[in-house]
Amino acid sequence: KAAKSAPAAKSSTPAATKSAPAATAQKDRAPARQATAVVTDIEVRNPATGELVGTVPAESADAVAAKVRELRLYQPEWEAIGPEGRKEWLLKLQDWIIDHTDHLADVLQSETGKARVDALIDPSFSVDLTGYYARRAGKFLSDEHPSPHSPLARVKKLTTAYRPYPVVGVITPWNFPLAMPVIDVIPALAAGAAVVLKPSEVTPLSALELARGWAEIGAPPVLAVVTGAGETGAAVVDNVDYVQFTGSTKTGKRIAAACVERLIPYSLELGGKDPAIVLADADIDRAAYGIAFGGLFNAGQVCISVERVYVEAPVYDTFVEKLAAHVRELRQGADGREPKYDVGALANDAQKSIVSDHVEDAIAKGARAVTGGKATGVGTFYQPTVLADVDHSMSCMTEETFGPTIPVMKVADEAEAVRLANDSIYGLSASVWTGDKARGERVARQLNAGAVNINDVFANMFSFALPMGGWQQSGVGARWGGADGVRKYCRKQAITVPILPTQEKELMWFPYN
Ligand code: NAD
Repeated sequence: KAAKSAPAAKSSTPAATKSAPAATAQKDRAPARQATAVVTDIEVRNPATGELVGTVPAESADAVAAKVRELRLYQPEWEAIGPEGRKEWLLKLQDWIIDHTDHLADVLQSETGKARVDALIDPSFSVDLTGYYARRAGKFLSDEHPSPHSPLARVKKLTTAYRPYPVVGVITPWNFPLAMPVIDVIPALAAGAAVVLKPSEVTPLSALELARGWAEIGAPPVLAVVTGAGETGAAVVDNVDYVQFTGSTKTGKRIAAACVERLIPYSLELGGKDPAIVLADADIDRAAYGIAFGGLFNAGQVCISVERVYVEAPVYDTFVEKLAAHVRELRQGADGREPKYDVGALANDAQKSIVSDHVEDAIAKGARAVTGGKATGVGTFYQPTVLADVDHSMSCMTEETFGPTIPVMKVADEAEAVRLANDSIYGLSASVWTGDKARGERVARQLNAGAVNINDVFANMFSFALPMGGWQQSGVGARWGGADGVRKYCRKQAITVPILPTQEKELMWFPYN
C-alpha cells in the first residue's frame, strides 16, 4: 500500500527528502511485504588472520524475488527524474564515499586481507567513477537524431532514445569488493535502472556498506543488495531484466545459459591471462618495475594482472634479474592502517591452492623459482614469486592463476611474442614494453585483447572514457567506461514524429496506388 503512493514527486530530488532522516524516508516508502526467508548464514573471515569479521544471510530465491518486486515499484520514478535528478543523488553518494573512505577501507581490508594501500584503491576508484557517470550520463543518454534518408527527409523527425532496463542484476566477485560493484551499479543507476546487487559470498560486507550509504543519503530505494552464494545469484538471474556479471569464465557460461533460457540480455566480464611483451628496445628498468606492479598488485588477484611475460632473447636475463631483485624487496603483510606492506593475503585457501598447484606444476616441468615459490605459512599469504624458463606446457602459462606469481618466458622475436600472447582462450588486456611507441601501437593491433597499454599497466582501468571489456572467453558484451558503460543498461527506442502537417495520404497507406 505504501508503495503505491510512494514514488511521488517529493522523493525525486535530494533536496526534497533532505529534512527527513534517511532511514525513515526509505522505510515510509517500503511496501508492506518484506523479504524474510533466510535459509542459512554465511561467515565472513579475514583470510590474513582467520578472524570472523561478519555474518550475512544466504538469501533465498523468494527473498530475492520480493526485493526485485520492490525495486520495480520505484524504478519508473527513478527513470522519470532524468539524468539531472539522478546526478544529484549520485554526487551525494560520491560525497558519502569520500567521507567514509577510511571506514570502507577498514571493512574491505577485514574481509580480504589486503595490504592497506590496496584496500584504499576501492574507495578512491569508486569516488572517481561515481563522479564520472554522475556528470556525464546525461550527455551519453541524450536523444540522437539520425538524418532521415529520402523519401522521409523533411517528412519525419527521427529520434533514438535510450530507455533503461527496469531492473538490472549485478553479480560481482571478491577481488575488489567495493570497486567491482560500483563499476556497474553506478552506470546502471545513472541510466535510470533499479539495481539488485549480489556481491561475492566471500566479501559481502563492502557491498552492504554501499547500500548503507545509499540509504543514509536518503536516496530513492532503487538499490538493493542480496547476500548469498551461487543459488542467490541464480535467483537474481531469474528475476531481473538484464544481468551484468563479473567473475570466472566457468560461472559466466552458466549465467549466459540461464539468460538465454529467459531470453534476457546479459554482459559478462570474465577471467584473463594477460600477457606482457618486453621487446629488446624497451627501458628494462621501467618494464621490470611496471610488470612487478602489474603482476603483484592486490596479490595478483586482478582480472587484468600481468599473468605471463614474453621477453625477447637479448634482454631476457637482464629483465629476469631486475624483476626478481625488485620483487625480493617487497614487504608482505596486511594488518592495520599503516601503508607499510606491498603484498597482502590471498582471498581464501582455495585461491592459495591454485597458486601452489601452478607453481609446483611449473617447477616439476623445468621452470625455476628465481624468487618466492612457496606459501609463507601465515594465513593465506603466498610469497611474491618470479618463475623463469616457463613454457606453454605449464598451467601457469595457460590457466588463470590469480595470485602473486610472474612467469617469464624467453622468445626469439616480436613475431613469436605475438603468436604466444595470442595463444590463449582469454583476451582481456595486455601490455607491450618498447622504446618505440609506434612499434608498440603496431604490436597492440595484432593482439587479441580488449585493451592494450604501451609501457604501462592498468592505465586502461583508470581511463574511464575508454570502453574496457574482454574479448574471447574474457567477456561478452561487457563494456564499461565511456558512453558504452551506461548505454549497455538501456534499450534503444526508435521514435518518429511528423515534421509537416499530417498528409492526406501517407506513403504506404491504403488504398495502394
Ligand atoms: P565466481 O565466478 O566464482 O563468482 C562470481 C560471482 O558469481 C559470485 O558473486 C558468486 O556467488 C556468483 N555465482 C556463482 N555461481 C553462480 C550462479 N550459478 N548464478 C549466479 N551467480 C553465481 O568468481 P570469483 O571467484 O568470485 O572471482 C574471480 C574471477 O573473477 C576470476 O576469474 C577473475 O578473472 C574474474 N574477474 C573478472 C573481472 C573482469 O573485469 N573481467 C574483474 C574481476 C574479476
